[in-house]
Parts: sequence; structure tokens; C-alpha cells
Amino acid sequence: MVLEVVKYGHPVLRKKGAKIEKLTPDVRKLISDMLETMRVAHGVGLAAQQIGEAVQLTVIDVSPVTDRPSTLEQNGKPADVNGFMPLVLINPEIKPYGEMQTGPEGCLSFPEIFADISRPSHVEVKALNENGEIIEFRAGGLLSRAIQHEVDHLNGILFIDRMSRDAKAEVQAEIAELQAKTKTALKG
Ligand code: ZN
Repeated sequence: MVLEVVKYGHPVLRKKGAKIEKLTPDVRKLISDMLETMRVAHGVGLAAQQIGEAVQLTVIDVSPVTDRPSTLEQNGKPADVNGFMPLVLINPEIKPYGEMQTGPEGCLSFPEIFADISRPSHVEVKALNENGEIIEFRAGGLLSRAIQHEVDHLNGILFIDRMSRDAKAEVQAEIAELQAKTKTALKG
């Protein structure tokens, strides 16, 4: 089932996600609906807050993106990124590392708003997958950026919080307009 993506201005986007204690049928359904919603929306990632649920769950798929490379390392060895997609991360714990890199980012909760964001180049990840198994890996490139963006969502942090002052000034009017529109729709 394709779910509605919550837009900026909705309070759920600022909520820290609760830990998922058990892979119940409801959680499994949520995972499958989020994967479908991400595909239909042509997103690289989707966090539970973005479909209105403040829980520690995100889905990611960088495989449709061919012009921005990703790297993946498991047990110290390079692994096939596309073979690892789509990625379901439950209760993820991440440690970003490496040099700061600036790259373009968008967000399904901010339609048509894009900005350059600086983040550490790599990330170390530990999470549960869709089967409740522990997965550990390191990621670089677009995958690292996507994971950091999505895990931010799980903590109520948005990419506008990571924009430089100049980058934010450029999109400030669009952000304000989106926020006002969302708030009006919520009242209605
Ligand atoms: Zn986002």
C-alpha cells in the first residue's frame, strides 16, 4: 500500500522515533508499505516519521541512482551495493567518520527543495534488518549520505538543520511556504 508522505510543517517530523521491540505483523506491513511508497515516490530513502510513525525504522535504496557512486564494506571486504538493496534498518546505530563532503540533497518531505549539505564521507552502521537479524557494515558515497539523512529523520533532525546559512537563505522562502501550507492543511 502506498502511504502518504508527510510534508514539512507536520509535527511528527520533529519526533524522535521509539525503538522497535518486536517484529510484529504490523511492523512487517509497515516495512512493506514503506518500500512501496519509496519506490513510487522515486526516493532514495524513507524514514518512518515521513509516513507519520515516530519509530526507529528506515528504508533505503540507492540502486536506481547511477550517476552518484556508493561503496559498501562488510567484514572489512568490499561488497556489492546493489545486491544489498533495498536496505531496511531497524533501530540503527551509526558512527559517521571521514572527511566532510558536500553534496546535493533533497527530501520527500520537502518537495522540489534541494541544497548542498556537508556530512562525513563514511558511516559505520549497526542495525536490525527486516528479519530481525543484526547487520553491520560501512558505507561511503551516496549510500553513506542517504543513511545519515535517514537516521537524522529517526531523531527528528531534518536536512534544513544541516544547511549552511547561505544554502538555507536560498531556500528559506520555499521552506516557509511549505510549512504554512502543511499547517493550513492540518487545521482543515
Ligand atoms: Zn528526508
